[in-house]
Amino acid sequence: MNVRRSAVFLDRDGTLNRALPAADGTRPPHSVEEFELLPGVEEGCRALRAAGHLLVVVTNQPDVGRGDLSLSSAEAINARLVRLLPIDRVEVCYDSGRGEPSEFRKPAPGMLLKAAGDLGLDLSLCWMVGDRWRDVDCGRNAGVRTIFIETGRAEPLRARPDFVVRDFTAAVSVILGT
Ligand SMILES: [Mg+2]
Repeated sequence: MNVRRSAVFLDRDGTLNRALPAADGTRPPHSVEEFELLPGVEEGCRALRAAGHLLVVVTNQPDVGRGDLSLSSAEAINARLVRLLPIDRVEVCYDSGRGEPSEFRKPAPGMLLKAAGDLGLDLSLCWMVGDRWRDVDCGRNAGVRTIFIETGRAEPLRARPDFVVRDFTAAVSVILGT
């Protein structure tokens, strides 16, 4: 039997949870206390899961590779995320982004391709949702449909996303066709 499994790949910071202000834009939460889900995320994830999509978080956490965030803090935040949301899998890239380009650090598609292989996903059925150009390009590089959540950040996109929306709830509506 050929089961065609779909997944929605989800960026974390700025997509599922609030990104915090930083001198050069935004930064991820550095503790569980700083971690806060964005409006509509819990309901949206449950709706996607109920519609049969697996949910796979794919997140760059370069602050760990740069020594600005401990691995244990990063892992505690992801553990909280998994407790709060019906997430099937979390892929994290801790690369600092300062050395050789990694095959896993977004915009490279490695985290998506690894999860797809392990979970038996049909990438043509999958989606990538995120708030940065790296998410859009990563989704395109993996061959999945892309949804960009426009947050007003002063950062130009590089590739054109398939859909542009205002928030997570609108992204869910695109995927579910509602
Ligand atoms: Mg983000």
